[in-house]
Amino acid sequence: MSIVIVMLSIVSTPIGNLKDITLRAIETLTACDAIICEDTRVTGKLLEHLNIPKKELIAFHSYSNERVLEEIIKRLERGEHLVLVSDAGTPCISDPGFKIVSKLEAEVVPGPSAFLAALSISGLPINQFIYLGFLPLKKGRKTLLESFNHELRTIVFYESVHRIERTLSELASALKEQPDRNIVICRELTKIYEEVIRTSVKELPVVAKNITKKGEFVVLIGDQRSPPSRCL
Ligand code: SAM
Repeated sequence: MSIVIVMLSIVSTPIGNLKDITLRAIETLTACDAIICEDTRVTGKLLEHLNIPKKELIAFHSYSNERVLEEIIKRLERGEHLVLVSDAGTPCISDPGFKIVSKLEAEVVPGPSAFLAALSISGLPINQFIYLGFLPLKKGRKTLLESFNHELRTIVFYESVHRIERTLSELASALKEQPDRNIVICRELTKIYEEVIRTSVKELPVVAKNITKKGEFVVLIGDQRSPPSRCL
């Protein structure tokens, strides 16, 4: 009986500062046969920055059809070493890749992820937290925001520049009964314009209006019993 060793490496890449790549990530990206990625231009630039010789890039998105997935599986079964990356951070964390990984044996080459960086710099209690990815846009959104009133753990979620003002305003009204609850907004972590705003529910409407609407955001809500933290 022959044993097929499937060689898929899941490799994290930086979330902004390209120096945050790990040695193992560089080694793995250099040694592999091809890289499965989201935007081939983004991954191409990373390889160029790392002086890794050009290699085949296979585009894979959450909407990629089954045929692409089958082709990837066939190549792995033929013994090729493929790497899975996303545009930034850790593959499968609010990013495509889950469909590939769920079907295969893989190894992980861990590294940065925006929500972990945000939790560690937040100053909020994070012995326990819940990660929500991106909030739903319509169905269940209001109910979810209101449920935060009863959540005892720190909450962390991703938000885009297009919705940050709206989300912070809606959060302010959903949590109005807890005006001193801590809110932390992290923008552009590890990049030149990194910003960490520590504020509270009662200040959120003003913060929402004045926030710089550029870049990428992680929003955190403190445990409702934690003491107010320093406000910037
Ligand atoms: N896989 C990535 C990870 O491990 O963090 C997340 C990908 S998700 C499609 C992109 C979202 O992550 C952005 O909209 C933003 O909310 C958050 N994000 C990524 N990089 C960030 C950064 N440097 N600063 C703040 N938030 C960031």
